[in-house]
Amino acid sequence: MSAPGATGLSISCASCHECGRLCRLPHGGHSADFETLCSRCGSGLHYRKPYSLQRTWAFVIAAAICYVPANLFPVMTVISLGDADSETILSGAIYLLTNGMWPLALIVFVASICVPIAKIISLVTLLISVHRRSSWRPADRTRLYRATEAIGRWSMVDIYVDTILVALVSLGNLATIEAGTGAVFFGAVVVLTMFAAESFDPRLIWDNCGAES
Ligand SMILES: [Zn+2]
Repeated sequence: MSAPGATGLSISCASCHECGRLCRLPHGGHSADFETLCSRCGSGLHYRKPYSLQRTWAFVIAAAICYVPANLFPVMTVISLGDADSETILSGAIYLLTNGMWPLALIVFVASICVPIAKIISLVTLLISVHRRSSWRPADRTRLYRATEAIGRWSMVDIYVDTILVALVSLGNLATIEAGTGAVFFGAVVVLTMFAAESFDPRLIWDNCGAES
């Protein structure tokens, strides 16, 4: 029925995201954004996620913009014995490091500074490679996408770290902690990168690779 490397797109078939039925799209064609309704459950059918690249770009750019204030503004203000001390993500990690809590400092640094920028860079790399119709190592690029998507589920590690910090500081010094503006932007970066990874359709990577891949 199909040649090696044939895709649903090349034989004018698409599977329904809601009920899983494989449907032959009546008008065929190769438009990535073509959409019609599932004959069984009536939900929208499409070969590729509609406006995948545009939506992913929008979320990635918004995440990159929010990343700047997330690192510049304090994520928390610790009020201890009348003294207010504001910490950004980086100064918080340095504070932990100089107080001998280097494993926590490492977790904060990796989870809050490295992981978000790594997700943004890998999504931009994937987007540019699809725009340039690159046929370069599609399997590796798919793995990169899978890793980026998987990291999203672990982004909440930061919340746990913050909770541990709150517990440590509260128990140790009877201090109060207020969330700062940076925390709001940081939350926005986490959510926006998750939306960006969700919007990207990894099948676009393979669309330019032909049957030999
Ligand atoms: Zn359906």
